[in-house]
Amino acid sequence: MLGTELIARFEQHFPLSLGEKGDPNGLHIGTLNKEVQRVMITLDVRPNVVAEAIEKEVDLIIAKHPPLFRPAERLTDADPQTNMYLDLIEHHIAVYAAHTNMDIVEDGLNDWFCEALGVHETTFLTQTHEFPYYILQTMVPTAYAQTVRSALAEAGAGTLGAYEKCSFSTVGLGRFEPTMDANPFIGSENQLEEVAEEKIEVLVDQASLSSVIAALLEHHPYETPSYQCFPTTVPTQTFGIGRIGNLSAPCSLKELADKIKEKFHVDHVRLISKEDNPMVQRVAICGGSGQKFYSDALRKGADVYITGDVYYHTGHDMLETGMSVIDAGHYIENYCKERLVTLLEGWKQANHWEVEIFASQEDTNPFVAY
Ligand SMILES: [Zn+2]
Repeated sequence: MLGTELIARFEQHFPLSLGEKGDPNGLHIGTLNKEVQRVMITLDVRPNVVAEAIEKEVDLIIAKHPPLFRPAERLTDADPQTNMYLDLIEHHIAVYAAHTNMDIVEDGLNDWFCEALGVHETTFLTQTHEFPYYILQTMVPTAYAQTVRSALAEAGAGTLGAYEKCSFSTVGLGRFEPTMDANPFIGSENQLEEVAEEKIEVLVDQASLSSVIAALLEHHPYETPSYQCFPTTVPTQTFGIGRIGNLSAPCSLKELADKIKEKFHVDHVRLISKEDNPMVQRVAICGGSGQKFYSDALRKGADVYITGDVYYHTGHDMLETGMSVIDAGHYIENYCKERLVTLLEGWKQANHWEVEIFASQEDTNPFVAY
């Protein structure tokens, strides 16, 4: 299959528009305009991962962490770090990164953490994006209204909260006169036509807009469908990074820490807590380096905040808030590999892709517990 087709499906789930500003999500090395037979998922692109990719004849690496996050000044073999880029290019291995868009999107990494830890009723921790919804209106001959409504819903229109296939219709009369250049579905040249039509109105989110309009144009019977689309100021669609929710029953801080170690295969965590082992139930989590969002966790009533890379002095500030913190390390994000493989396997089955998808077996944690 083509790399472009695989990534088009991937970006439906992980839109690039959900990345943080300036974050280099997307294709980093090589081209997607080629056949891909083997796709490898990794947290990091490191020299050992590149060696594995070469050995396994991988065509495309999908990574959580953008390899060119800090731009390389030279591309030479003098430095193992930059030499791996030369190896990737030499072996025609493309590298694609989904970084903060994977943290922010619904059904993304922070949701997967919550699922694994049994954190329910979640909302985002810190808002990052706000998009308008769009109202799409189209006039359709009544006999074809159901077909068009279904096509719009299938393409993603009319989803609001926990409700799908939402639409509103009014019935009226449409009028038009085909000219000599027309090829009308109904009517004849130079004769004013009146048709019983239904005006369908649906709400569309920004990410679905182009596919919904494409579905409208494909399924509307008229040669030139009548439709209009305009943005709303209320409601809007919001997204955010991190999640906060509740455990179904309180547990001790150390029990939660043990669960993190077990679920995410880490051998130690660091705890920040005023009390020795307090009970916790309201849990905030932001994988990776989420220390800058700790005040949002506090404001939203978290008993404990799970993140990584907590800086010493920030640890002091956190301690004084009374909220507990579990610094589980950045490497818990390695958990994304198994979830991404499952997602991609699902798309492979649904779309009959002929491609092999697997997780890298390499350990890319720079730290070992000692
Ligand atoms: Zn990260």
